[in-house]
Amino acid sequence: MDASVADAESAAGLRLMARLEAFAQFTDEPRRLTRLFLSEAHRRAAHAFIGWCGEAGVKAKIDAAGNVVARYEGRRAGAPALMLGSHIDTVRDAGWYDGNYGALAALGVVESLSGRDERLDHAIEIVAFGDEEGVRFRTTLTGSRALAGNYPEDILDQKDADGVLMRDALISFGGDPERAGSLRRSGVAAFVEAHIEQGPRLEAEGLPLGVVTAINGATRLEVVVDGVAGHAGATPMNLRRDALAAAAEIMLAIEERACREPDLVATVGRLEAWPGAANVIPGHVQFSVDLRAPGDANRTAALADVEPRIFAIAETRGVQASIARSHEANAYVCDSSLVAGLAKAVEAVGVSPRLLPSGAGHDTMAMGRLCPAGMLFIRCKGGVSHNPLESITVEDCAIGLKALTQFVRDFRAD
Ligand SMILES: [Zn+2]
Repeated sequence: MDASVADAESAAGLRLMARLEAFAQFTDEPRRLTRLFLSEAHRRAAHAFIGWCGEAGVKAKIDAAGNVVARYEGRRAGAPALMLGSHIDTVRDAGWYDGNYGALAALGVVESLSGRDERLDHAIEIVAFGDEEGVRFRTTLTGSRALAGNYPEDILDQKDADGVLMRDALISFGGDPERAGSLRRSGVAAFVEAHIEQGPRLEAEGLPLGVVTAINGATRLEVVVDGVAGHAGATPMNLRRDALAAAAEIMLAIEERACREPDLVATVGRLEAWPGAANVIPGHVQFSVDLRAPGDANRTAALADVEPRIFAIAETRGVQASIARSHEANAYVCDSSLVAGLAKAVEAVGVSPRLLPSGAGHDTMAMGRLCPAGMLFIRCKGGVSHNPLESITVEDCAIGLKALTQFVRDFRAD
């Protein structure tokens, strides 16, 4: 490779890393990164993003739904666009890279093209979504849903914990609640999101990059187990109907079922037992089950095994179980030609292309309703995310940007 090209690439990687650090200073709380949707920190971050776009030679603005959007024209004005981006809102006490990496990498791609005044057959659009984490309001993905023509207008009248209406927050941010429902885009040929993996697989396999095949579908259950509370000293073991011991057996059965399939994951993340005293046999237990898989059929089959198993264990132990489904979302299968194109780009930068599903939800799911959509994963340290310890190396930062740029150059809109 030409030494000047290699220098430019490593400079672009360093610049992206430096921007991620600078961007992390836009926070609603001192000494930790918290940037909630439509907050003051989000507003300042959005304006910094717009400024950086301006330096890269593209005009950016805030759209009606609170996204930052920009367009870098192709050789011919009005050509179909490849849209790149991710979210710039964060959880509380967040890491620096979740979402921000993909939004700033999109800007980095355009910056490198515009620096050489290189125009492609397609336009490139940059988007920095604002509502991915769903921390402030009981919503999520409203920015990407707006672009996909699926904006849930009824959410505008909900309030955050301080009583601020989402509608008013959107207006002070620079959005327009009256127009957010009519942002559906045309002329977008595809959407691609670069994102840290938020899981440990790439690191375990010694790979800096991965290509996402599907975003897991998820089902959440609320399980209630009713037994009989009794004296912990006076009730012999064979005469107990211990709701918590039954729940423990159920949890192990769920874990065992999930372990039988490579990409199926199941978690009991919350459990409460009543009356909750050291000297009383638990009579009533309630717990959550979160079950995810990249294929809807795998998830459905797992549920079809798990649910009867819960009742069977309850029956054997003389307790009663009931199950309610509290959440159900189908998997999003990434567009196969984008998966192939991203795999090719990853290979072109010297990395063996690893295909893997995403366990977490992303804006890509919402954009998939509008156009073909796909994702590129970047390795993160220990798979840690939603945590200030989130970390990526400058080398991985750079190679992710390089692969994304390669993909963008090779992309053909048809
Ligand atoms: Zn994210």
